[in-house]
Amino acid sequence: MAVLAKTPSQQAIDLENKYGAHNYHPLPVVLNRGEGVYVWDVEGKKYYDFLSAYSAVNQGHCHPKIVNALVDQAQTLALTSRAFYNDVLGKYEKFATEYFKFDKLLPMNTGAEAVETAIKICRRWAYEKKGIPEDKAEIIVCNNNFHGRTTTIISFSNDHTAREHFGPYTSGFIKVAYDDLEALETALQNNKNIAGFLVEPIQGEAGVYVPSEDYLIEAKKLCEAHNVLFIADEVQTGIARTGRLLATCGNCSCENKDCSGTPDVKPDILILGKAMSGGAYPVSAVLANDPIMEVITPGSHGSTFGGNPTAAAVAIAALEVVKDERLAENADRLGKLFRAELNKYITHSTICKLVRGKGLLNAIVIDDHEEGDTAWNICLRLRDNGLLAKPTHGNIIRFAPPLVMNEEQLIDCVRIITETLKEFEE
Ligand SMILES: *Cc1c(COP(=O)(O)O)cnc(C)c1O
Repeated sequence: MAVLAKTPSQQAIDLENKYGAHNYHPLPVVLNRGEGVYVWDVEGKKYYDFLSAYSAVNQGHCHPKIVNALVDQAQTLALTSRAFYNDVLGKYEKFATEYFKFDKLLPMNTGAEAVETAIKICRRWAYEKKGIPEDKAEIIVCNNNFHGRTTTIISFSNDHTAREHFGPYTSGFIKVAYDDLEALETALQNNKNIAGFLVEPIQGEAGVYVPSEDYLIEAKKLCEAHNVLFIADEVQTGIARTGRLLATCGNCSCENKDCSGTPDVKPDILILGKAMSGGAYPVSAVLANDPIMEVITPGSHGSTFGGNPTAAAVAIAALEVVKDERLAENADRLGKLFRAELNKYITHSTICKLVRGKGLLNAIVIDDHEEGDTAWNICLRLRDNGLLAKPTHGNIIRFAPPLVMNEEQLIDCVRIITETLKEFEE
């Protein structure tokens, strides 16, 4: 007979451990409700969500407008496959292409699928438009990239854990250092079969590495000079997260004007996912102009769920929320406040050396002498103190709350974070 009944949290964790594959190492907290910037665990404790499902929930948990769009469309017509037309997909494609200023959109479901799609489009363009000999196309990628989990994508990852014993790997990728224009230029000069350059405007998973101011603009110029497609993976940085509608959106300042203005760095291929649906449904997309997208012909690519009416309705609502609630502007303003407040603390800190980021995609770097689990332990203590975040790459903690946060809440979160860090100072 059990002496002590297990808590509901422990029961849920035990079930996952026993019946689920162990492909994650979650922070021990079991959530069952979310609203706006908050989530609740099964014991009823309330937390600030500072991960936002890896920036999928930019619009806040269970946003009523997005949930209504989901429910309405799911009750009307959920899935047709692309064997037939449906009456929402076209509306969504018109809406999203005008929103992001591209001729065409190809709908998929997950971020990794959208990256795969972009790679396929780029390769076809290389053979059919650029004239690269069959099977010779190369795509330049960056060290420490994160683009998803498929076999091809992990083929060009540096992450040992993500790659080990999953070979043989897909060929046709060349790695260069991130934020290194010389390395990019050398790679472009050394090989005439380069089709594309795939890059994250900020490397999120790697630890929120923000490149130098002119990196993306100059990289785009190099690509243009070599007739190479500039492919921006904005799955994490897109949809207002970095204080602009897109991180590639150059000098487009959200305080002064509508952030959907033509970006300074316009990618040839734009990859979006995560917050395209505000976290309500898997929705991803690849956008490009006609001269590139036209290489895709009937039968050459597809997805049973991609472009389904539910996804289309949800995505329209999710993108409308971003504009209606001026989330880019809010992320820009609160992000500056967040870094300013944390920088005040860091001046006297021995445990935390650095805060960096853009908009509300930020990270702190923990000074972990023992190369141990300090960042993990800080995240456990943050949880106890009512704020959920997760370490990325050992000693880095990413802070990415929903963009619907207000200033009072942000200041409260800064208090929780700094008081928690204090507990770890020497
Ligand atoms: C999360 C992410 C992906 C993969 O998206 P999934 O929906 O998990 O497949 C790809 N690229 C970037 C930059 C991401 O952050």
